[in-house]
Amino acid sequence: MGLPVVAIVGRPNVGKSTIFNRLVGQRIAIVEDTPGVTRDRLYGKGEWLNHQFHVIDTGGIEVGDTDVILTQMRHQAELAIDEADVILFVVDSRTGVTDADMEVARMLNKTKKPIVLAVNKVDNPDMRNEIYDFYQLGVGDPFPVSGSHGLGLGDLLEEIVKHFPQAPEEEESEDVIRVSIIGRPNVGKSSLTNAILGEERVIVSEIAGTTRDAIDTPFEQDGQRYVLVDTAGMRKRGKVYESTEKYSVMRALKAIEDSDVVLVVINGEEGIIEHDKKIAGYAHEAGRAVIIVVNKWDVVEKDDKTMQRFTELIREEFKFLSYAPILYVSAKTKQRVGTILPKVNQVAEAHAMRIPTAVINDLVTDATIMAPPPTDRGKRLKINYVTQAAVKPPTFIVFVNDPELMHFSYERYLENKIREAFVFEGTPIRILTRKKA
Ligand code: GDP
Ligand code: GDP
Repeated sequence: MGLPVVAIVGRPNVGKSTIFNRLVGQRIAIVEDTPGVTRDRLYGKGEWLNHQFHVIDTGGIEVGDTDVILTQMRHQAELAIDEADVILFVVDSRTGVTDADMEVARMLNKTKKPIVLAVNKVDNPDMRNEIYDFYQLGVGDPFPVSGSHGLGLGDLLEEIVKHFPQAPEEEESEDVIRVSIIGRPNVGKSSLTNAILGEERVIVSEIAGTTRDAIDTPFEQDGQRYVLVDTAGMRKRGKVYESTEKYSVMRALKAIEDSDVVLVVINGEEGIIEHDKKIAGYAHEAGRAVIIVVNKWDVVEKDDKTMQRFTELIREEFKFLSYAPILYVSAKTKQRVGTILPKVNQVAEAHAMRIPTAVINDLVTDATIMAPPPTDRGKRLKINYVTQAAVKPPTFIVFVNDPELMHFSYERYLENKIREAFVFEGTPIRILTRKKA
């Protein structure tokens, strides 16, 4: 299960982005390219007490005639309803209930998803009485907050997390590999999914996520069990926003969170664009195992150097993914589609691999003899002890005399030494430097 998603909706200027900024630390800007509207939308990660969650700021609408605004708002609400576990509906205490608020409320009320109502701009306690008006929206108790002053957010968050889906009772067994297929629209994700699953669809059953729309498809091949994590657009064809970049990025981010192995699909016919890099970068940062799948290889005009050139291009464009294997396939002719799952097994194994402490310490000791650690003003970095603290991705903690002395380049050197000694193909490796106690 990935992190719960909170979507912020409401008409323009009520303070959605202000509240978003309060809830979120790290963020990713997403540009939506729908004809007529080009603006930044935001997707970020929030944390409160022990809860982590994603927040989507569905954005406001620029001035336009009323029809455009209503259409946009409907679009926005629809998107939020689709993606969210909890909808945070923001209104403005200073304007009172407006027709547009009523309209949003009507749309939101069609869903069964939990709605939390924030009455914003309640900047001082005297204004608390203003909130009662908002009961007429029919979406439950209004929570007074001030986005700009950071007031009332604790109570608001407490209410929000109450509605997060409970972790499923039955933990998935360790040996299931969760795979997602991501990429921009039309690269062939659905076709690849079908090609991998086979014509007869070896699907065990389709189970809907506990309270979400996400659908996971479990299947089995050669004794290995997999779950194909909800992929973009398969079931949603025809919806307006399906083809927008924003929508595909959002689905991709969620799918990445939910998976062990991410297949980043690139259209061999068109090459690499910025959007591919953005998504791949997120998979890397999320610490997932990655395989780059170049699809539509059947239509690429080839000579004996084409694959090599394409590989060089990928290595150049995706520098941070130097560990990711590249497969050249065609979902259409099924060429090399059969190599995908065996590669998934390999990278999943690398992703979950644990190196015994004694072994990793010997390796690092040898590495420091070959290339002594950096010095700064006469003081040399001394590595006392290394241990692998986590898997998925493999995470090593290096205990040293003074973490300030560790250089990025030396960390990279250690990573390379680890990669030379063990097969960590397809998985990022994290190296954290800590001061020895
Ligand atoms: P959005 O269009 O819904 O995303 O709204 P913004 O977050 O951009 O805020 C719209 C305006 O309301 C900005 O001028 C904010 O500074 C202001 N604003 C946001 N939150 C508060 C608040 O809690 N109190 C007051 N007084 N102003 C606020
Ligand atoms: P998605 O939007 O990423 O899920 O892409 P689709 O699977 O819907 O494929 C988009 C289009 O590309 C469809 O017309 C497919 O028939 C076509 N397509 C997908 N894979 C291949 C392939 O390997 N070769 C060729 N020639 N066409 C493909």
